[in-house]
This record gives sequence, C-alpha cells and structure tokens, in this order.
Amino acid sequence: MKTRGAVLRQMGLPAPYAQSQPLRIEELELAPPGSGELLVKVLAAGLCHSDLSVIDGSRPRVMPMVLGHEACGEVLQCGPGAADFAPGDRLVFSFVPSCGHCSPCAEGRPALCEPGAAANTAGALLSGARHWSDSATALVHHHLGVSGFAHMTVVSARSAVKIGRDLPAEIAALFGCAVMTGVGAVVNTARVAAGESVAIFGLGGIGLAALLGAHASGAWPLVAVDVVPAKLELARALGASHTIDARNEAPVAGVRAATRGGAHHALESVGSEAVLAQAYAATRRGGTTVTAGLPHPQKMFSVPAVSLVAEERTVKGSYMGSAVPSRDLPRYIALYQAGRLPVDRLLTHRLRLDEINQGFDRLARGEAVRQVVLFD
Ligand SMILES: [Zn+2]
Ligand SMILES: [Zn+2]
Repeated sequence: MKTRGAVLRQMGLPAPYAQSQPLRIEELELAPPGSGELLVKVLAAGLCHSDLSVIDGSRPRVMPMVLGHEACGEVLQCGPGAADFAPGDRLVFSFVPSCGHCSPCAEGRPALCEPGAAANTAGALLSGARHWSDSATALVHHHLGVSGFAHMTVVSARSAVKIGRDLPAEIAALFGCAVMTGVGAVVNTARVAAGESVAIFGLGGIGLAALLGAHASGAWPLVAVDVVPAKLELARALGASHTIDARNEAPVAGVRAATRGGAHHALESVGSEAVLAQAYAATRRGGTTVTAGLPHPQKMFSVPAVSLVAEERTVKGSYMGSAVPSRDLPRYIALYQAGRLPVDRLLTHRLRLDEINQGFDRLARGEAVRQVVLFD
C-alpha cells in the first residue's frame, strides 16, 4: 500500500535543516505485515535527540531510512501470529524489539535483546524483513523497528505495548523514548531511594523525564544542571530543589555544595564524555554515575582507577532505561494519570510532518524539549 513518510537519504547535511532538508517527505510503498507483525496507523511521533544524531551523522545508521522511534499508533491490521493485538488497539512503540528467548531477554533485560539489536543495526524488523520501498522500488530501511515519522508503519508485535484509549496520543508517544529512557534510568538503572540525592546533567527530554522520575521517587536534594535558563526554570517547576546554570557556575562544585559533599546518584543525558566526567566528579563516596547519553563512538571516558575501589564508586550505562517495556509503560502511564509524573509538561511543540526539519533545527538550538508530529 502507499503511505507518506520522512526519509533520510544522507547523513551530515549542514544545519539549518529548514534549508538543507535532510528529511524529505516521500510517497512510499509499504508491504503488508508478515508473521507476528502489525500494520499501524501512526497517531503521534516525538522528535528525539537520537534522531538528530542520525541526521548529523554522529550515530550512523544504514541509509536510506524512514526515521522516528518515539511514537504511538493504532493497529489497522494484524499479520498471522500477532494474536495479542486486534485492529483498533492503541499502542506505544518500544525502540528495541525483544525476541523473548535470547540470553538478555531470559535474564529479564529485554532492552539488551541480541536479535533486537542486530535487527536495529540492519535497519530491519525483528524477522529480518524490510517493508519499505520508494517510488523507484529501491529498499528503504526501518529506524529501530519503528519508523514513526510516517502516516502508517509496519512493526514487529514485539516492538509494541498495548495501552488504553484514554491517554491522548501526543502524550502517549512520549512514553516510548523520553519517559521509558529517563524515568527508567532513575528507577531501574540507578534504583534511587527516597531521601537520596540526585543530580541530573542535561535537561532535554530524557533529562527532564529523569527529573520527573527522581521527584516521584522522593529524591532530595534534586539538582538540575543545564546551560539554557528556560530549561532550568522548567526543572524548578517540576521539582528540582537546586538548579545550576553551567555557563555561570562550576557544575561539579555546585552539585557538591547542594548535596553536602556529592550526590548519591548523578545522571548524564547529554551524550558528552566531558559532561559524563563532571557527573562522575559530582558524586559522593559510594555514589553511582548513570549515563543515558549517546556520545560519538570515538569518544573515550576515563576516571581515576583507584576511586572505583577506594571510594566504591560505580559507573553504569542505561539503555532504554534498562526497561521491561510491558512492565514499565503501564506503571509510568498510571503514575502520569495519578498526577505523579507530569509528562505533559515536556511537550513544547506540535508539528505537521512537513514541518519536521524546522523541528530538528529547534531541537539542535535547544529551544524545544519534546516536539510531537501529529498525523490526521
Ligand atoms: Zn529517543
Ligand atoms: Zn531477545
């Protein structure tokens, strides 16, 4: 069938993207769902920094590709064997499909699913299939098994979590990446306990979602670090006890002062090895540094080796919030609906699909938290 989607054909085109137009809205052919797959009408899709990292080439992917990995939709058609879903079901996409039987899946760590990661690297669905082609009948790849910047998409049922119909689509989309990754980094990876101090470095969608998670977990003090005054102001409104503008104040000293000697947990979500080093230096003895950012693959991170032993420090990576999506998404949605996780405060802009390049300009300039493309 025919549908329209935002295709990236070349990474590294220069900003402003409103001029270079890295994403082109193209008419595409979408093959019907195979075994265990779903045809989904996309309702809303968020713009995430990881999409921008593909556009600017710092996180290379196979080209060409229909981009977008944070979205929600409604099932139109189920392929054979997708018995858990029916047409009309609402769902949020998970950007790592979980096979359910590899070693990490068996250990309860589906965010690390090995066939899922291989499929994402190949730009294919979990089955290995690719369903996109362009008007010249050339193959176009899937982005993280989702490709949410399109009116319709085909996904593995193992890339989807069913949700209720009572959550607005523009909010539901944010749960797929920002909320699952940010809240999960605090709840699953760091395991923050009430009364422990937390410092969040970087207040994009992930960092602010982590702040919401830390606030809901009872973290105190809760310190937010960024270089954009409007984001620091939002962080205060969302529960930060202290904010540090890293342009005017040394962030490590600021966090150490606010937490009386260093944070129990520091979270880095910028994707910068220099900021990760600051986060590490801002933890206390026995503290844990969690990184959920994605630096360029050639960047290295070093720490004084003895500090790991003599000060019992921990550094942990957090991919997709160490999530079990079918467990965590219903929990986070319930917290939102109870008023305990005000995810709607992260939504700053609503766009049409043909405004998507301007949206990425806004994201690159730090002028937006979460922008959502709405489809009619
Ligand atoms: Zn994302
Ligand atoms: Zn698996």
